[in-house]
Amino acid sequence: MEATKAKQIWTKACEFLSSAISADIYNRWIGVIEAIGDESPGQLTLTVPNGFYQDWLEEHYLPMIRKALGASGHENVAIAFMVDGRRPAPETATATPEEKEPPKRRTGKTTCNVGGVLNPRHTFDNFVVGPSNTFAHAAALAVVEAPGRAYNPLFIHGGTGLGKTHLIQAMGQALLKRGKGTVCYTSCEAFTNEFIQAVQQHELASFRRKYRHIDLLLIDDIHFLAGKEGTQEEFFHTFNSLYENQKQIVMTSDRPVSEIGNLQKRLVSRFEWGLVTEMEMADLETRVAILRRKREQMGIQLADDSLFFIAEHVRSNIRKLEGSLLRAASYASLTRKALTTEALEYLLRDTIEQENQTALTIEGIQRMVAEYYDIRLGDMTSKQRPNNIAFPRQVAMYLCREMTEQSLPAIGNAFGRNHATVLHAHRSVGGKMKSDAGLRQTILSLQQRLGGVAAPS
Ligand code: ADP
Ligand code: MG
Repeated sequence: MEATKAKQIWTKACEFLSSAISADIYNRWIGVIEAIGDESPGQLTLTVPNGFYQDWLEEHYLPMIRKALGASGHENVAIAFMVDGRRPAPETATATPEEKEPPKRRTGKTTCNVGGVLNPRHTFDNFVVGPSNTFAHAAALAVVEAPGRAYNPLFIHGGTGLGKTHLIQAMGQALLKRGKGTVCYTSCEAFTNEFIQAVQQHELASFRRKYRHIDLLLIDDIHFLAGKEGTQEEFFHTFNSLYENQKQIVMTSDRPVSEIGNLQKRLVSRFEWGLVTEMEMADLETRVAILRRKREQMGIQLADDSLFFIAEHVRSNIRKLEGSLLRAASYASLTRKALTTEALEYLLRDTIEQENQTALTIEGIQRMVAEYYDIRLGDMTSKQRPNNIAFPRQVAMYLCREMTEQSLPAIGNAFGRNHATVLHAHRSVGGKMKSDAGLRQTILSLQQRLGGVAAPS
């Protein structure tokens, strides 16, 4: 049918649809559709940004669209979807100045060429490159240039708040812009939930169709697979299917592959098939550069001195760095005064105290190591000896001896043990490190997270 008529009919159908489904879903799936003219008189051609939209709409919304057409007296119109590759995928998300996790964690939604889940601020342009992330950044760019060919899979690991999500989402936006195929960005948690739901609702076939027919899978926080047998099994097949078809897979994790607990061996080896790269905490210069970039981006008025103060004192996590900047900036704008060092010290006292604690006290080390190995802080002092607890406890003892000035008995005491146990743990971990590169790396990255300053022993 011709264009004007097609648009009229579609507008009517949209009125019906917008009242029948939630605004969120309407905006995501229906709002992006455009009606165009075509040669066949009885046919309504609807264009969508990519093949994924087409599949999804045909599978889930076709009956609803038919009903909408029927409601305005066009039940006999044939519907044809068409992919309009020139159309950029919609980006509906808006930037918020708040320092929160990107919303994807909470809503658990998966993005497939759809904006609104990728945080628009997480771009390559906004990503400050320094020695701590040069390698990861370069690898990310290489993959964007030649997906499926450069490094497959790409595995990026590093502690919390060091920019993994930022980087993988930047890849997502760049890939979407370049139109290199269907991009799917999701967190491993969302993938897991979706999988469980698909199993419960007998929709495994469509789940598989979705994940095995994309061109680029970006999956955040893959360590979430730890111990999840069923999801691991499914992900194994997803991985194989994509990999065999030379589709790109990118994963992030808060720990090295070898440290993800209860992960099937065949997954461990696959995750290391391509390129593994680590992100570390930014050094002082990079921290200052990040703060400068952020200041500029957000139009914050804050003197360089204050930026330096923040960069010097917040050393463990870029999210905290940003949080401190915002705190200082909002205080400065409220009082309309230049910030003195005393005022800054007061404002950031909690953060600074936390930083010092994790860096220097036995409890800080215990806490950090427990978090890293995903055991309870109480396990550090408990009398239990299963290996999954005993080993992290030894690692914590090793780090206490290496990084604090505390005596052997004092360290032993803090773990509910005697000095000989600490000495043994220190020797044992030190010995294993000699032959185990993975463990060396783990210890190094823990030291980094703890502030990176190893006291001379
Ligand atoms: P992770 O996923 O590793 O926990 P995020 O990617 O969420 O960390 O990063 C935390 C915050 O720090 C985000 O707001 C992110 O934009 C910012 N950030 C991290 N690294 C950089 C960087 N190199 N340049 C600019 N901002 C960064
Ligand atoms: Mg993250």
